[in-house]
Amino acid sequence: MAVILTNGGGSVGIGRSWDLLSRGASALDAIEQGIRLVEDDETNHSVGKSGWPNLLGQVELDAAIMDGATLDAGSVGAVIGQLHPISLARRVMTDLPHVMLVGRGAERFADEIGAEAGDNRTPDITARWRAWVERWAAESVTLAGPSGPLAPLARLTTDPQKAHGTTVFLALDDGGHIGAGVSTSGWALKYPGRLGDSPVIGAGIYADDRYGAAGCIGHGELTIRAGTARAVVLYLKMGMALPDALREAARDLEALTTTFAGSVTIFGLDHSGQTAVLGWGVQPDTGWVWRQGMAEAQPAVVERAERC
Ligand code: ASP
Repeated sequence: MAVILTNGGGSVGIGRSWDLLSRGASALDAIEQGIRLVEDDETNHSVGKSGWPNLLGQVELDAAIMDGATLDAGSVGAVIGQLHPISLARRVMTDLPHVMLVGRGAERFADEIGAEAGDNRTPDITARWRAWVERWAAESVTLAGPSGPLAPLARLTTDPQKAHGTTVFLALDDGGHIGAGVSTSGWALKYPGRLGDSPVIGAGIYADDRYGAAGCIGHGELTIRAGTARAVVLYLKMGMALPDALREAARDLEALTTTFAGSVTIFGLDHSGQTAVLGWGVQPDTGWVWRQGMAEAQPAVVERAERC
């Protein structure tokens, strides 16, 4: 019965997640432990350590987790100096009467609970940030130190090679419970304080044992506006099959006006354990699935939906 679905970058964590799930662990434990490995992966520049910094060179992280059994959720946004935002998000869910903490408050809470602090800036990613800022500052924009105007630079940070990536883990455990988790460094070179969809429950993540779960990668400004993850679960509730629910959520994205040709990949899991992935736009992600009977994770089938 147990199954786990991750995005492509989840490959470094899915084995750990499956190991836990196959030994009867909860969906939430499997998700958290798997995502922690992705957050440690320095080759992944979209999540955790070595994630792309914001315009000021700070690595600001977002993460969320949702429990389909209780509809409890926790998230953190724009957190600096924390190695495992997914664990922090889970502690927000379990330890506080709140759902979301951002910035300084989230960092304060992390200190209070003794979360693992650390510098997520690697020399490599810092050098790439510096090269980007110096190039654009020299060519067209004045970057007068941290207090200078950043908005003109934020409009230039739309290279989809950089502005892309989140890790998504959706799991169904042997107890029939569903969970969802996401973690990201967000839009590369974003304006400081920008939150994407990942920490927004209903946009980048949703889970409900009765119907299923969804998680999103890509242009978070769009999935916030469309409430994409919640929409998928609502379409399941209304009786759609999972692939149709994902297609309907993609149609919702089509209705949004935007000048940025980004993409969104929607990951879905229904309460019976079926999985589906839909890539919408120019650069869809890939996925991995591991369920009973598989000796190792298998590539997930990704349906493509072109943007009109
Ligand atoms: N969805 C993430 C965000 O908007 C980034 C991404 O997955 O590309 O922050």
